[in-house]
Amino acid sequence: MKKIIIIGSGIGGSGIGALIANKKEHEILLLEKSNLIGGRCASYKRKDDKGREWVFDVGCHIFSTCDKGPLGEILRRCGKPNAVKWIYTRPEVNMMGAEVTKRKRLRKRRRETEKPEEKKMSAIDYINSIPFEETFNYDDLTLEEFFNDLRENKGIKVNNLLFSMSSCIMLGTSLAATSAGEFIRCFASNYLGKANGYPMGGTGAVPEAYCSIIEENGGKILNGTEAEVKKIIIDNDQVKGVEIGPNKEFIEADLIIANSDIKTTVFKLIGGEYFSKEYVEYIKSLQWGGQGCSLKIGINKPVIEHKCLNYIPKVDIKGKNLNEIEIKELFYEGDTIPELISMLIVPISNSDPSLAPEGCQILHSVSVTKLDGTKEWTEKEENQWEKTCLNTFLTLWPDLEEHIVLKEFMGPWRLAKSFGKEGAGVGIGQIVNQVGEKRPSMVSPIKGLCFCSGDAGGSRGWGIGTELPARSALELHELLEKNEYDLDKIWS
Ligand SMILES: Cc1cc2nc3c(=O)[nH]c(=O)nc-3n(C[C@H](O)[C@H](O)[C@H](O)COP(=O)(O)OP(=O)(O)OC[C@H]3O[C@@H](n4cnc5c(N)ncnc54)[C@H](O)[C@@H]3O)c2cc1C
Repeated sequence: MKKIIIIGSGIGGSGIGALIANKKEHEILLLEKSNLIGGRCASYKRKDDKGREWVFDVGCHIFSTCDKGPLGEILRRCGKPNAVKWIYTRPEVNMMGAEVTKRKRLRKRRRETEKPEEKKMSAIDYINSIPFEETFNYDDLTLEEFFNDLRENKGIKVNNLLFSMSSCIMLGTSLAATSAGEFIRCFASNYLGKANGYPMGGTGAVPEAYCSIIEENGGKILNGTEAEVKKIIIDNDQVKGVEIGPNKEFIEADLIIANSDIKTTVFKLIGGEYFSKEYVEYIKSLQWGGQGCSLKIGINKPVIEHKCLNYIPKVDIKGKNLNEIEIKELFYEGDTIPELISMLIVPISNSDPSLAPEGCQILHSVSVTKLDGTKEWTEKEENQWEKTCLNTFLTLWPDLEEHIVLKEFMGPWRLAKSFGKEGAGVGIGQIVNQVGEKRPSMVSPIKGLCFCSGDAGGSRGWGIGTELPARSALELHELLEKNEYDLDKIWS
């Protein structure tokens, strides 16, 4: 029996905890510094001045593959496939006032009646036709290079706005940086899986279900300031335990799994001096994926029927063709904060009405504040981002402000302060040189220290948002089981 400490209750930490605890073979202690469980995937409650309860989510608002993907797989492997009830959604798209989804459905119907010889392959069809194993051949190609090849050598038309919006929403990265292989895997699984959705109870229902499995199987969970890991103690290149809370209480461990972000773990919880120069340089060189913010509004009058809407507001397209322009050129030029921003709008109470008081609605938005990395915004700039998100909502519903009961904002500055990763939405970016075989390894150079999060994966660690840490948990669990938790074997 090994003493295992997990640092953090995000999808990666709670997920690996559930998988290990389910076998009842090891002693597990999960330490979470926040009062919330679930990190970027947590939910929390707020009361309005009438004493009514509303549930909001910290960051994540929609899951790409729900029970059919790695999040559901964790529950299946723990024998609890129905511990989370998923509500499927069909994302709508509104580009500058035009309802693209409706047009797309009409086009699809028309295409179905076309004779095979009349049919021209679309970029979407082409991407979806690439066999999964083949996608890894495109890992070192940027999405821009991949699309140029489609246009020039295969005669396939590519809509830059549509694909740069997809890349921005799914991965927080631009066409020039995103790994084509990673994009193809994510896009195709999202498109073909037809299992987009939201969990009953809020996004926090997922990490909470994982944590229940830990506790039901004898594992222990501590959270709040008393449970904050201040230091990982290393002796002779091997972990010895952690110091936690204001009094730096020492707790011994054989194996430490860090769900805390990889850079903070290496440089703050341990210290660069414990690693080789090459490893320190490598961790420093890793680039975060995009950074985001989220405006959450509780309103006393429902304004939208959809469960999910991709929205690009009307802005100046600088004389360009709508199909040629990239989302980067519309919203992310220079370092200024735009007046309006592209957003994913998820009215979460349309999936689970119990999250809002009767007759009310909750709108959540997610927008990228920095593509291809992070930026240190000031508190003032963060407030400006909140205004930008609200202004964007107002382009859809001009009288919205009259109906606002509660308003919450999670910006990159607050996100970085509460949950690390310099405010990055997901973690280490899914760009060329950081995906597939080149994803940071879950096994650190220090004996007894592993990473499990959206920052590190096995050779097949891929996915959209929460899918990355969920796959990290599945792969790390397989690796530990295969080596029977024998540290000498793993670090041989
Ligand atoms: C605004 C926003 C919108 C998003 N939208 C979506 C979406 O719609 N769909 C989707 O799938 N994904 C989405 N994501 C991404 C998704 O939320 C993340 O990819 C995922 O939740 C990250 O999980 P993780 O396990 O890597 O880490 P985290 O969730 O960051 O968890 C790490 C945990 O470690 C804890 N911790 C850190 N240091 C310590 C310490 N020293 N001691 C104790 N505990 C510590 C933190 O408090 C935190 O709880 C979104 C993210 C953001 C920010």
